[in-house]
Amino acid sequence: MVDLTNCDREPIHIPGTIQPHGVLLALTEPDLSIIQVSANTTTLLGLSPQHLLGQPLGVLFTPEQIALIQEGLSSTQIEEQKFHNLTLALGGSGQPFDLIVHRMAGTLILELEASAQSDQALALRVYRMVKQTVIACQRTTSVREFAQTLVTAVRGLTGFDRVMVYQFQADGSGVVIAEEKSETVEAFLDLRYPASDIPRQARELYLRNWVRLIPDVNYQPVALLALDADHAREPLDLSFASLRSVSPIHIEYLKNMGVHASMSISLVRHNQLWGLIACHHEHGPVYLPYDIRAACEFLGHMVSLQIGDKEATEDTAYRLALQEVQSALVQHMSVANDVLDGLTRFQPNLSDFITAGGTAVCMDGRCVTLGTTPPQALILQLVDWLHQEMEDTIFATNALPSVYPPITPFMTIASGLLAVRLVRARPNYLLWFRPEVVQTVNWGGNPAKPVEVVAGSDLLSPRKSFEVWKQTVTNTSLPWHDCELAAARDLRRAIIDLVLYKVDELARLNEELTRSNVELDSFAYVASHDLKEPLRGLHNYAHFLIEDYGEQLDASGTEKLETLVRLTQRMENLIDSLLHYSRVGRAELTRVAVDLNAELADVLHLLEPRLREDGVAIRVTRTLPTIQADPARVREVFANLIANALKYNDKSQKLIEIGYDLIAAGDGSKTFAFYVSDNGIGIAEEHHDTIFRIFKRLHGRDAYGGGVGAGLTIVKKIIERHGGTIWLTSQLNQGTTFWFTFGASTL
Ligand code: ADP
Repeated sequence: MVDLTNCDREPIHIPGTIQPHGVLLALTEPDLSIIQVSANTTTLLGLSPQHLLGQPLGVLFTPEQIALIQEGLSSTQIEEQKFHNLTLALGGSGQPFDLIVHRMAGTLILELEASAQSDQALALRVYRMVKQTVIACQRTTSVREFAQTLVTAVRGLTGFDRVMVYQFQADGSGVVIAEEKSETVEAFLDLRYPASDIPRQARELYLRNWVRLIPDVNYQPVALLALDADHAREPLDLSFASLRSVSPIHIEYLKNMGVHASMSISLVRHNQLWGLIACHHEHGPVYLPYDIRAACEFLGHMVSLQIGDKEATEDTAYRLALQEVQSALVQHMSVANDVLDGLTRFQPNLSDFITAGGTAVCMDGRCVTLGTTPPQALILQLVDWLHQEMEDTIFATNALPSVYPPITPFMTIASGLLAVRLVRARPNYLLWFRPEVVQTVNWGGNPAKPVEVVAGSDLLSPRKSFEVWKQTVTNTSLPWHDCELAAARDLRRAIIDLVLYKVDELARLNEELTRSNVELDSFAYVASHDLKEPLRGLHNYAHFLIEDYGEQLDASGTEKLETLVRLTQRMENLIDSLLHYSRVGRAELTRVAVDLNAELADVLHLLEPRLREDGVAIRVTRTLPTIQADPARVREVFANLIANALKYNDKSQKLIEIGYDLIAAGDGSKTFAFYVSDNGIGIAEEHHDTIFRIFKRLHGRDAYGGGVGAGLTIVKKIIERHGGTIWLTSQLNQGTTFWFTFGASTL
């Protein structure tokens, strides 16, 4: 069965062959005799493998050179760690070579690569570039800026057509975060690679071997020849050999991309492969001298030490930005006195908080969206689902369609979801949506090409790996970071604190209001009671003046005195109303079962003369219920409302309708809502509150039969003392309906 794990199983560290741009020798210690040799020695060294196998090192090197090599062997810890010994001319004459030595599983491995004469000027230039790059990288403040500095420097050092920094994600896939390239090659910036592009064991090798050069993908592998069957039995472990042959899958992969030469430099953080500096050349092979490779390797080591810093700086900057937006949001919510408005209506708003494609706030059946989100109806369904499923207060996924299939048609915009529940009792949620990860790269080659199996093996071609990856990234968004989850939790906490604070404040204000109401009631009582007496005196004395001295006054004097009498009379009416109002506020209610039909009949009976006089049609729509209330007060409510319905009516055929409906109370139970409706003059919307204020009249003092403007204030007081509410609906010139309840306890 051909599958991708083949790539993970391919033994790439023991290929049995090398690349042809150098010679590899394997030696035993301490005698330093040659036990394996690459088959290309004749071409490169002028000596056939048969001349070398079984020979001591002296066959190639002078005694001085051997002494230098031995010095390196003893003084350097070369187990799994290469050392570049010398640039030397073999046997003291001819072509100079770079000699790279390392020890692997007890065998000494020497690699020889033809080199240019050592060049002091180049070495100095390279040293300066590395030093400047390390300093420039230090100054950067974000990972991307850091990576950009690196690719610019590495391209300057090596001259590759394209140099990228490729960063691994948590799922093993990678993304190109920086690129420096020649104009002739395609841009790969921001493209993503599947995890399978770099199989597990290749990653392990990158971790151990920081620089890997493939000068020419079209090379012919060179076999390793062993001294005898004994030495041929165990394949040579070439994990650390620079010349190690490349996996045919990787070669095909590079060819598919049109790459002729490649190099990678590992970037390591906390002993994990964090990323790679990947270099590509499309125009011919690249033979980089060892010095440059060593400089790249050194650079890789130096900058790897800085990665943690850059990530921390970037993280801190993001965290700070999140905190700033959070405080602005809290302020907006506080001023707007509404969570939903505060989060969505001002700048900055919730879309400036955690990075996402779209966000939604769902509160008490209302839902506001910002940015790109699924349709509201679907969001509300999603919220219902979350409310059933969510255990914790927070839920985050980067593969929403796999847990919530109804979202699938919208996966391009909502593959990722971060949801925060505000309270368990109600489905109030903050939601962030992230789009599906964009995959545009045809990384593994022509997608129209069928999957290929590498000839003679069951290994897969890279085409397949791309296809498989595409399936795994479909329906997937970028992941949510820990700091984002923490920020979402913090925002939730802040909202809850704010709401609790507002509730506290409201409770405090209510308490204050109740206290001042009580005070006002007693003040009104005392004031009106005590004012009445001198007022009575004023009234009487004015009256006496008219009676006893009327004849001595002229007409104007008499008129003024009469006005005085009228005014004192009016003032007395006002004081009586105030007194009555304060009594309603202070007196205990006597709650008994009240048959509203009987009470209403009493009221209508009292009003009978006026009703008849005005020819009013009264309709009681259905038999009224019996409720728990204070009967005298109930009568007062109906009397006042019916009197007003009569008073503020200019129609020739006046109609008054009385009835009730059952409505839902705040706690979900049902309660009676009574109404008194008329076809009178109506009340403009802007007066719907003011009419309940004491002594507030909308008309001239004597218009519509006059009045002191206390009736509705007293009605409201009575209703509120019963635990009920009063409200109205009205149309100017068409009529008004006053609705009222006597509290939930009336059923
Ligand atoms: P008053 O009737 O003594 O003026 P109220 O407190 O009963 O005092 O009413 C306050 C004001 O509300 C009235 O002046 C009137 O303008 C308005 N009002 C009350 N009931 C009605 C009604 N049914 N239709 C139109 N206006 C009304």
